[in-house]
Amino acid sequence: MSEQAKHPSVSEYFGCNVFNDTVMRERLPKDIYKSVMKTKQFGIALESDVADVVANAMKDWAVEKGATHYTHWFQPMTGITAEKHDAFITPAGDGKVILDFSGKELIKGEPDASSFPSGGLRATFEARGYTAWDPTSNAFIKDNTLCIPTAFCSYTGQILDKKTPLLRSMEVVNEQALRILRLFGNTTATRVSTTVGPEQEYFLVDKKTYDQREDLILTGRTLFGAMSPKGQEMEDHYFGNIKQRVSDFMKDLDCELWKLGIYAKTKHNEVAPAQHELAPIFTTSNIAADHNQLTMEMMKKIALKHGLVCLLHEKPFAGVNGSGKHNNWSISSNDGQNLLDPGDTPLHNMQFLTFLCAIIKGVHEYAPLLRLSAASAGNDHRLGANEAPPAVVSIFIGDDLQRVLDALENGTNIKTDQDLEFVIGVDALPNFRKDATDRNRTSPFAFTGNKFEFRMLGSADSISCTNTIMNTIVAQELCEFADKLEQAEDFDKALKELLIQTIKEHKAIIFNGNGYSDEWLEEAARRGLPNLVSTVDALPHYMDPQNIAMFEKFRIYTKEEIASRTDILLENYSKVINIEAMTMLDMTKKKLLPAAMEYGKKICDTAIAKKQLGLDASAETKLAADLDSNTAKMYEAMQALESKVNAAKEIGDVLECAKAYRSQVFSAMGDLRTYADQLEMLVSAEDWPLPPYSDLLFNV
Ligand code: ADP
Ligand code: MG
Repeated sequence: MSEQAKHPSVSEYFGCNVFNDTVMRERLPKDIYKSVMKTKQFGIALESDVADVVANAMKDWAVEKGATHYTHWFQPMTGITAEKHDAFITPAGDGKVILDFSGKELIKGEPDASSFPSGGLRATFEARGYTAWDPTSNAFIKDNTLCIPTAFCSYTGQILDKKTPLLRSMEVVNEQALRILRLFGNTTATRVSTTVGPEQEYFLVDKKTYDQREDLILTGRTLFGAMSPKGQEMEDHYFGNIKQRVSDFMKDLDCELWKLGIYAKTKHNEVAPAQHELAPIFTTSNIAADHNQLTMEMMKKIALKHGLVCLLHEKPFAGVNGSGKHNNWSISSNDGQNLLDPGDTPLHNMQFLTFLCAIIKGVHEYAPLLRLSAASAGNDHRLGANEAPPAVVSIFIGDDLQRVLDALENGTNIKTDQDLEFVIGVDALPNFRKDATDRNRTSPFAFTGNKFEFRMLGSADSISCTNTIMNTIVAQELCEFADKLEQAEDFDKALKELLIQTIKEHKAIIFNGNGYSDEWLEEAARRGLPNLVSTVDALPHYMDPQNIAMFEKFRIYTKEEIASRTDILLENYSKVINIEAMTMLDMTKKKLLPAAMEYGKKICDTAIAKKQLGLDASAETKLAADLDSNTAKMYEAMQALESKVNAAKEIGDVLECAKAYRSQVFSAMGDLRTYADQLEMLVSAEDWPLPPYSDLLFNV
């Protein structure tokens, strides 16, 4: 094989497993291609004869690439993706088969998915949900299967997935943002889209070590484990050299993602040992959400090929940083503007300030929604733990923008670096220095030059919920602005008044200082900003009247759909803690206690033998006593946990049950772990049944 054939260029194979615009242009008759493009751009449904042609072309393309099956790929409320595979085969009557795929099969599927969580929306007897093709996201091939991105709804029209609300939220933000652009005299833009670049953190551990840990296998995190003598204190891992095995994994991963048309761009080591990050180039929210799901799936799959396991849990290890997912968010129009780019003309600055103020107002008014969009049992370990933003939502805008907002609010002038003075107004505004501000890493919601970075999301989360909420909030505020401004006789005057009023009323959400400090939590409380510490504190706010009103106004969710989502998420929380508690009990009974007792006996035997010989057995006696008391305490803690789990399980009310898991079970798990980890430090490595943190963190 020639060198060139061995190393095909990325530009050649990028997107080779995607039925994208280029493939469609090549393979579809011109008029059909045009209808598909219209569907993609304007969401107009495909005629059934057109769908037949598209389906057939898709099938031919997929079969040429070795596909035998197709699946409607969807995103139920489990937070991961689901697929049911159907072969293309149809009996030909002569004992043979032909390969067939109709427009009907492309557009609609019936997974009969009665076992997905629906939060009471769909009784099991009428379980039939259906999946509907989302033509804005390209079909692709994965594992010899043609995957068709789809939305998942019930027959009564209730949404059962994470894609549908995201698509709806993109529509409403489009409508409202266009109203604002028109007010600024823009007649060229016809479509406004939100864009997202999610930075994905993850851990890699050795598969053989992983296989020896029931906790990792069942829960994705270590439920026990004394800290390794070395952690992340040397700060030698962040951006450090990438180990060969990890580098091989990353290369393989990039290659597979590129084939799927995913713009995997940046890769590096993260702060904790064994922790890494992948960031793609941003794209429209819906595609970004699909791509992030695929990225997580590929990470897990490809790790296994390298004898590794990819951990996406938010806190796989106590004592070192956990993993998040930074959701970089912006909004752009199809005439080429990033609406969050401060720009370099006064008019655009004013337009930028309008969008900025809408976001500030929205985040202030709907902070609990953003907080709950990142709420999960796993993420509770991170938020507020001085490695991730606090649970208080605030906005960082940096010094430059702060000066501009101050000047606008106070009607004063500001000085620029060139020592030119500007009066803030519609006519003249200085150019902002782009991205000159120090990147505040402690803020949950930071302006980073021409986009906002939401840093609360957990690594395992789907980004759909956060972006649905983000888009809807912004649509809500833009709508309110547009309603006012469209009535105004003097636009410039009305705009200025509106922005000043918005800054005055909502500047409490802006905080440019250290979000990890205790003083900030006190200050935030004084400002009346909510501090929703845990998942069970945050989730009930889904049902706040103003949130229901907003979602219903923009037809994102009905009240019933929000109620079902709240229940699903709360139940999920209880289930996760329950599984963790049960796993701890199982491991304690079957592994840790026997090991501690066995080792205790060994030490006692040695002590007795030494004493019989008249030797000094003080070390053995002391160790035996330590082992004995810790073992007894571990046993007690185990019993306490068991009774708390049993009590929590009995609670019928979804919220009360989740609260019991949080306040009772979760804390009892902490107690049990304390004694187990102390025992791990006393028992010899040979006799302790679990591989230690040092193996997990440094042995890749
Ligand atoms: P950081 O210093 O946070 O790593 P980067 O410039 O590398 O900042 O960007 C991080 C992420 O933000 C990338 O995924 C990038 O594609 C994304 N991003 C950049 N511009 C935008 C935008 N306009 N909209 C959404 N995401 C964006
Ligand atoms: Mg970042």
